[in-house]
Amino acid sequence: MNSMKNFIFAIFILIILAAIGAVIYNWSSLAGLWQGKEILVGDIGATPSTALRQQKTSEPLSSGATIESTPSYQKPAENAIIKFPIFNYHHIRPMPRMASSTISDRAFTVSPEGLEAHLRYFKDNGYQVVSVYNLLDYFDTGRPLPPKAVAITFDDGYYGQYQWAYPLLKKYGMTATFFIIVSNVGKPNVLTWAEIKAMSDGGMVIGSHALSHPHLSALDDEQLRKELVDSKTILEEKIGRRVNLLSYPAGDYDERVIQFTKDAGYQAAMGVYKIINQSPKYRYSIRRFHADDWLESVTEKLAGY
Ligand SMILES: [Zn+2]
Repeated sequence: MNSMKNFIFAIFILIILAAIGAVIYNWSSLAGLWQGKEILVGDIGATPSTALRQQKTSEPLSSGATIESTPSYQKPAENAIIKFPIFNYHHIRPMPRMASSTISDRAFTVSPEGLEAHLRYFKDNGYQVVSVYNLLDYFDTGRPLPPKAVAITFDDGYYGQYQWAYPLLKKYGMTATFFIIVSNVGKPNVLTWAEIKAMSDGGMVIGSHALSHPHLSALDDEQLRKELVDSKTILEEKIGRRVNLLSYPAGDYDERVIQFTKDAGYQAAMGVYKIINQSPKYRYSIRRFHADDWLESVTEKLAGY
């Protein structure tokens, strides 16, 4: 009788163990599915939409649970206004000495320590550095930007952007867009194709800053088309990804330049304004702030944001 009881008890324990096993198996395969999705997203490469998704996957609330949800957003009106500060940098390098440089040299330089102070400020104060594509996504679908979103861009493709800016961006888990003057690549103090490709592969967005940095509005139609189309095509061949963003050299553009930019297949273009407001109707003249070595050049633009 006792052995019968023991037998039934053993069967009971086995059933319990099997049930626990089934639950654990389901959990782990579900977790595996989530991980698989994240790997897939990361593997597509830093095409613009992926760069966007990479930023989104780094948000604390977006992993796993929200992947399958399809919230419906309302696309904003053409003249809708959204606040979104975008900071623009040029040289990242040790600050040139006063005696051997011009004011402009120093105004367009941010030292590696200066840049790190900016990035640390964003991080410590809850600003989320996202891609310019997050703004375009808002324009196209109405998907809101994360709270306290900011973006970072670099113009002119100077060597220090790879040597100092890129490692700092990686250190802080941030992305940025680099606008390259295509015919300058590989010249002294300018990025090489290998460096540009490495940054693209590393999740940075690469955009065009034209072939030769001319004032675009001063060019005839043929030259203008060549500056826009050839720079885009060459960049795409060199990095193996689509190039959808343009930064107007010297911030110079007019209605004809905008039309040619659209015709060349760019999805948006950056100007150089000193305002925080963005709008779908200014998609081809997105506003950016010039950042210099002073932390205040960033913090004063963020006051009240
Ligand atoms: Zn420039």
